[in-house]
Amino acid sequence: MSTPNHLYIHIPFCNSFCAYCDFKKTIANEKIKNRYIKKITNQIDKKYANKKFKTIYIGGGTPNCLNNYQLNYLLKHLRDKLSINGEFTIECNPELITKDQAQIFLNNNVNRISLGIQTTNNKLLKLIGRTHTIEDAKKAIYLLHQFQIKNISADFIYGFNELTLKDFDDVFNFIKNQKLKHVSFYSLEIKDGTKF
Ligand code: SF4
Repeated sequence: MSTPNHLYIHIPFCNSFCAYCDFKKTIANEKIKNRYIKKITNQIDKKYANKKFKTIYIGGGTPNCLNNYQLNYLLKHLRDKLSINGEFTIECNPELITKDQAQIFLNNNVNRISLGIQTTNNKLLKLIGRTHTIEDAKKAIYLLHQFQIKNISADFIYGFNELTLKDFDDVFNFIKNQKLKHVSFYSLEIKDGTKF
C-alpha cells in the first residue's frame, strides 16, 4: 500500500467554545498540550521517518492557541516533512495572531493561513460565541502580510436567522478588499451537544 501524500494534524484545543461548534475539542492546560504535541511528533517520526508530504494541514480546534514554544516545536518538526513547493497550512483564530506567531510561521515555512472569520458583523460574532471582532481579523491579515504570508483563506458561516443581506454584502466586500485567496462558506447546522 502506498503512503499518503497529504498530512492532517488535529489540534483539539480551544480557549473557549463557539455556540455552533461540534468539532472534537477541549480546553486543556499547558501540561496536556505539551504531552499531546510530543506524542503527535513522535508518532509522525515513527510512521513517516523519510516521508515528504505535498500538503500539511494543521486544523482544530484552535491550533494557534498553543503557546510560542509548542507552536514552534510542532512546526519545526513538520517543516522537514514538506516536499519542495509543498503547501503548509495552519488554521488560526484571528484574535490570537501576534507578531511572534507570524515570525514562527515564517521561520518554519508555513505558507498558508486559514482564518476562522465567520462573519463581518461584530454583534453576530458575539452571538455565535466568537471571541474576535472584525477589526481583529483585519489586524491579523495586515500582520501576516507584513511577514510575507499572503496566501490567506477564510471560513465564513451562514444560515442563522439574524444574518441580513447587508451582512452578506459586507462579507463579500471584506473578501474583495482584503484580497483573500480562498474562502469557504459553511451552512449552520444545529448539532447535539452545542449551545445552539
Ligand atoms: S469553531 Fe473553532 S474556535 Fe470555535 S469552538 Fe469550534 S474549534 Fe474552537
